[in-house]
Amino acid sequence: MSNCLFCRIATGEIPAQKVFEDETMLAFRDIHPKAPTHILLIPKQHIATLADADDPALLGNMMQRVRLIAENEGIAEAGYRVVINVKEGGGQEIFHLHIHLLGGKRLPF
Ligand code: AMP
Repeated sequence: MSNCLFCRIATGEIPAQKVFEDETMLAFRDIHPKAPTHILLIPKQHIATLADADDPALLGNMMQRVRLIAENEGIAEAGYRVVINVKEGGGQEIFHLHIHLLGGKRLPF
């Protein structure tokens, strides 16, 4: 979608600090980090919210990738948080599915 910020990051039109990329997904650092490590993982395909995601393989691959990125970032041993905000009620601001990976400090509840 041409007017979607994360689609534009996925195509490279808007720069981002990428930490992982393959044919189906991209991970990059959050521009306003809420923790020392704050990474967003998105599918390259435009899916607005988790509620619209009906591809179990893609969702499984994304969750597996978050786990591997956490290892690469050196936060796996201490522990980390994985968050998906869904629609307005869940605090979602960008309507392109993304998984937040947060770590690098002890996170408050
Ligand atoms: P959410 O509230 O779950 O939709 O989260 C959207 C996230 O995208 C927020 O944590 C923002 O800081 C982040 N964000 C917004 N614009 C950018 C950008 N250009 N590059 C990286 N992260 C961004």
